[in-house]
Parts: sequence; C-alpha cells; structure tokens
Amino acid sequence: MVELILNTKFIRQYQNKFPLIRKEAILNPEVLSEEGEIIHLVDANHQFVAKGYYGEQNKGLGWVLTYNESEKIDTSFFKNRILTAINKRQPFFNDKYTNTFRIFNGEGDGIGGLTIEYFDGYYVINWYSEGIYSYKQQVISALEEVIDYKAIYEKKRFDTKGKYIDDDDFVQGTRGEFPLIVKENGMNFAVYLNDGAMTGIFLDQRDVRRVIRDKYARGKHVLNTFSYTGAFSVAAALGRASKTTSVDLAKRSKSKTIEQFSINGIDFEQQDIYVMDVFDYFKYAKRKEKKFDMVVLDPPSFARSKKRTFSTAKDYPGLIKDTLDITEKNGVIVASTNTASFDMNQFKKLVDKGFKESGEKYQILEEYSLPQDFKTNKQYKQSNYLKVLIVKKL
Ligand code: SAH
Repeated sequence: MVELILNTKFIRQYQNKFPLIRKEAILNPEVLSEEGEIIHLVDANHQFVAKGYYGEQNKGLGWVLTYNESEKIDTSFFKNRILTAINKRQPFFNDKYTNTFRIFNGEGDGIGGLTIEYFDGYYVINWYSEGIYSYKQQVISALEEVIDYKAIYEKKRFDTKGKYIDDDDFVQGTRGEFPLIVKENGMNFAVYLNDGAMTGIFLDQRDVRRVIRDKYARGKHVLNTFSYTGAFSVAAALGRASKTTSVDLAKRSKSKTIEQFSINGIDFEQQDIYVMDVFDYFKYAKRKEKKFDMVVLDPPSFARSKKRTFSTAKDYPGLIKDTLDITEKNGVIVASTNTASFDMNQFKKLVDKGFKESGEKYQILEEYSLPQDFKTNKQYKQSNYLKVLIVKKL
C-alpha cells in the first residue's frame, strides 16, 4: 500500500466521492512504483480520504475503489460490485429483442478502468490499464460466481509494449464461432469478439439507432458518414428509408456493411457503400448536386487520415457546414460526438456555429446521451461522454 498525499484544495472533491485519481491532485506521485498497487489518498496529516489502485490512463493515475477505510479490495469486493451492476441490468437480460448490452461500466459501476459487455451469452472484458489488468484473477473469479457464460473474451486497451501478443482475446469457456449474430431491438448485428479492439458494434448508440429506425428514416435518403460497419444504415434501412449511403475510409467497412445488411434481409445492392474520406465525399456529392433528407454524423473524437486530421473541437462546425450543403430543407441531421472533454452545452455551441456560418436556421428536435446500461458517475461529469443532437434544417 502506498500513501498519496492530496493537495489540500482537492480534498473536498474526493470527500464528495470524485472517482479519478488526478495527477494534479497529488503532492507525491513519485512514490508510485507498480501498477495495480493499492493507494490510500490521505490529507497532509495522513488521515484517510479514499482507497484506490494505481493504473495509468491518459485520464489520470488510477481510480478510487472505496471511500471506506476498512473495505478490502479482494475477490468479494469485485463480486459485490459486479453483482450490483448485473442486478441493475435485469431489464436488459429479460428483453426478448435485445441480447447485447454493457453489464459493467467503469467508474459508473464503481471500478474505473474496467468495462464488461454481454453478447448473447459471451462476455468481453475491457482492461484500460496494466493496473486493473493485475486484478484479472479476482475479476474473473467474481464474474464466474455471478453469471453463467459460454465464453469470456478480453481486450487490453493499454500499451502492452509487445510483451504479450494476444492470439484471439479468448480467456476461457467454449470458443465462439464468429460472426456471432446478436440482437438489438429486433435488429441483427454481426460481431467478432476475437478480432482486434472493435467488435463491430458500438452499444452506446442503441437508443439513437432505434429512434432513427422508428421515427426518422421512413421514405428518406439517408447519408451515414463515418459509417464503420454501417449500423446506422441498417437501422435506417429497417425503418424503410428509400435508400442509404454509407461512407467510411476503412477498406474493411465495405464488406462489414454488406454483411450487416445481409443478416437483416436487406438487399445491399440497393444501397450505396463508399470506401472514401468523408471530406472527399462531401466535395463529390456537392459537385453531383446530391441532396439527402437525413445525414448521420458520428466522427471519432480525433482522427488522422493521409490528408488531414480531424478533431471535434476544431472541425465540428466545418463538418456541419459541409453537411448543410448537401441536406434538403427540412432535412434531419443526427450530430453525434463521443468527446469526453466537453459537455452537451459546448457541443451545442459547435453545432450552432456550423449553422450560423452557413446562414441556416435549425431546430433541435431531440437530445440523446448514454443509454441506461452505460451507468455514469455523477461526481465525474466526463463519464457521460456521448452527446447526440437530432436537428432539423429549417
Ligand atoms: N458511426 C459508426 C462508428 C464510427 S467509428 C457506428 O455507428 O458504428 C469511426 C469511423 O470513422 C471508423 O470506422 C473510421 O474508419 C472512420 N473514419 C475516420 N476518419 C474518417 C474520414 N476522414 N473519412 C471517413 N471515415 C473516417
């Protein structure tokens, strides 16, 4: 156990159950030596404030696990946290139409740096630091005690410095056959749990996919930018869009999108799929005078392509401007971002700036943030990272 001494001006924040161990809050970070070691946050008189673990992420030095000095960090600690989290997801386990969701969401469920997702009997654990990974045995034993599973897979989302190369992310159980076809609100999605960091679907957009299908897509020509495996396109097509156009620069996106359409009984040949830089596509569409009734914008927070870099704060207004050029009057724009460093109000300002610079008026129809299974930590606003605005161009 190591003692980290809190800078006086941060003590209040931790007494109020702030979960992240921030570098700037600590007077003696040099005492940290081994990831995973238990940390006591103390005041200048060595009085206990909180207990956590050392695990470096870009966000901070680690996470608080408990504010109770006598609580031990052992298998039963992990079991209690996981059981509590699973109990909160009972409505999802009972949902006939959805069999994929997040059962454990980091600091929102009391253990920062750890998330667990469920894919129809298969579980995927995401480890966000070497530190949390050092608790693998405890977490897996705890998980085994509270759930039945077909297999457990894992993703190490920290720099492993080539020390250990994952063959296929398999941990234990009976290996799955991929693609595994999971269901979300009656839609099918093909996922691969054994093929790199991404599974094929981002579960945090579930509510947005549903509303696109049920409320906005019918009869519309929908452009889906940064489309990845085309999940929004599938939702739109199932909502009887007249046509979908998907654009992503990753080569794999095309076959992945065809696969998602196919397992939903949609003829992919009736849809357009472009492997292309979105910004080149905007130019192309403008030149061809194409117009869309609906455009989905879901860029990564930060992306570097051969030609340019995209960052939300700098480039979102421009993305809106480009979109407006090819959006019909009364068309709908679904503007999404997962940048944690700003909140919904700041995001609204970026969207507003794009409209103003284009001289266009708009109305916000709906706002979305993370779905129910992505529990957030009220003391740590950044844990509520997803912001989606459904906006009508007037
Ligand atoms: N909207 C998707 C998730 C997007 S993930 C979904 O709902 O599943 C981000 C995607 O953006 C990646 O697939 C990446 O290949 C793509 N991307 C990043 N920069 C791009 C660019 N300049 N043009 C087109 N695609 C880009």
